[in-house]
Amino acid sequence: TELSKIRNFSIIAHIDHGKSTLADRLIQRTGGLTEREMQQQVLDNMDIERERGITIKAQTVRLEWKGCTLNLMDTPGHVDFAYEVSRSLAACEGALLVVDAAQGVEAQTLANVYQSIEHDHEIVPVINKIDLPAADTDKVKAEIEDIIGLDASNAVLTSAKSGIGIEEVLDAIVDRIPPPTGDRDAPLKAMLVDSWYDPYLGVVILVRVMEGTLKKGQQIKFMQAGTTHLVDRVGCFRPKLTQLEELGAGEIGFITAQIKEVAQTAVGDTITDARKPADKALPGFKEVQSVVFCGLFPVDANDFEKLRDSIGKLRLNDASFTFEMETSAALGFGFRCGFLGLLHLEIIQERLTREYDLDLITTAPSVVYHIELTHGAGHVELHNPADMPEPNKVETIAEPWIKAVIYVPDEYLGPILKLCQDRRGIQQNLTYVAGRAQVTYELPLNEVVFDFYDRLKSITRGYASFDYEQIGYREGDLVKMNILVNNEPVDALSMIVHRSQAEARGRHMCERLKDLIPRHMFKVPIQAAIGGKVIARETIAALRKDVTAKCYGGDITRKRKLLEKQKEGKKRMREYGNVSIPQEAFIAALRMG
Ligand code: GDP
Ligand code: MG
Repeated sequence: TELSKIRNFSIIAHIDHGKSTLADRLIQRTGGLTEREMQQQVLDNMDIERERGITIKAQTVRLEWKGCTLNLMDTPGHVDFAYEVSRSLAACEGALLVVDAAQGVEAQTLANVYQSIEHDHEIVPVINKIDLPAADTDKVKAEIEDIIGLDASNAVLTSAKSGIGIEEVLDAIVDRIPPPTGDRDAPLKAMLVDSWYDPYLGVVILVRVMEGTLKKGQQIKFMQAGTTHLVDRVGCFRPKLTQLEELGAGEIGFITAQIKEVAQTAVGDTITDARKPADKALPGFKEVQSVVFCGLFPVDANDFEKLRDSIGKLRLNDASFTFEMETSAALGFGFRCGFLGLLHLEIIQERLTREYDLDLITTAPSVVYHIELTHGAGHVELHNPADMPEPNKVETIAEPWIKAVIYVPDEYLGPILKLCQDRRGIQQNLTYVAGRAQVTYELPLNEVVFDFYDRLKSITRGYASFDYEQIGYREGDLVKMNILVNNEPVDALSMIVHRSQAEARGRHMCERLKDLIPRHMFKVPIQAAIGGKVIARETIAALRKDVTAKCYGGDITRKRKLLEKQKEGKKRMREYGNVSIPQEAFIAALRMG
């Protein structure tokens, strides 16, 4: 394809503003699928994604419009996947910014808009849902100009739902987004944008060719990984898979090369011709590392093999999580897994539960601590709070810190500063960009992994956006806090906390657990302790009567239902000594909200 006839773009939107619906319409209007084939929201192909409204794996569709080839690149929308977003954006020259005509600008994806600007994208504002009675396009245009600082005078007005303005969007893409540049005859340089495992094709790799040409039968080399492979398929999605002979500079498409695991295909790697390699890789490659770890254990010990199998299958398709076997005194055999962030953790946990039908216990998420032992006894990388050495064996303990950049409307600045301060943040900078505060904080990652993002969103009603990078390890006054239920320590609930926060955190945990653990026939004390010292305590009162007592003599089916429900509840419980703890309690107790 001639370069001047190519347009590569992505869609940026706050959740629910209509990104998927608009993408469907663009595919439909350009004839990619017939009405009958048009299943709802073809781009989000996993159930969980659809429910959460998050696109996890980037997917790309090739559209034909008035003699031009348009590549629509779908991007993940959450900070856990920030690097993947960045790679997808680097593969495009422009973006559609979709804003709900009734809701206006909501800055949850603002970080993406700024990233898009950083990648020198031409941004086309699209005001969607103009069919709604509450639509106010003038107000939304003003917001786009005031808050984001983009000219909105030529924004395209659409109703993705009723199919209004779709051709105007396609025309705007062709007219306003610049074509890519690149030389088809130069040595090959293609960016590995994404990869996933397909049961029929093996690993499918999404690429953006920057220079040169990628062909079927070519011997290619991954410049970071240093491996070579033979290309056996080249193609694109329309959205149906279509094979092509080659992909030239400026084009986006996929290849397969008889690769078995996505772990061999690092996002951001540069693909070159093994026989005629480029001398320099593309800029910006970053090794993706797990930053949050937790234990995953089957509720039923007999499910261990099934869990091993299921985790292995998920891993085939997601190289960004890691796992190794772990044993716990209380929970038996399971796995210690590493994730990009808490959302990533929740997605994997949910997929295991849903797609593989496993009942799981998740232990407290933790970052990796660096410990120096006393008397020069060595260095420990602690992934699991339960393995913390005795306090007298620890010389120093260091934790990872991040630099966080938060964009927030002025009126929410106060509560945000307080939140960061409460989380041991150190303010670095405060400036205003397009009528919006930009605050930079250094924060311990440990304080961010649990619920920082949720808190940020709820404090600002979704108007804040957040982005972070790791900045290394710093020593801290950190201690291990144990939680004792009925006088027995529950290792799955132990956590590393800063000494200054131990008491507040301990009290909070005890209060939460008091509500989360059902009553028993006896009193159940719940304690938080550091070493042998109890720092917080609650007691669950004893149960007085049988739950079925009030049905006595009454409707028998109602009574049976109640008993069944109890049994159902039992199944999801974990026994500690003679106390049952519902599995939800393990993660719920950690939310500090
Ligand atoms: P996404 O989260 O940005 O991908 O948003 P979706 O495309 O999933 O849309 C979110 C909701 O808004 C869905 O219920 C859509 O049916 C609805 N929606 C999308 N576009 C329009 C529109 O133009 N008008 C109206 N009234 N609803 C829309
Ligand atoms: Mg969507």
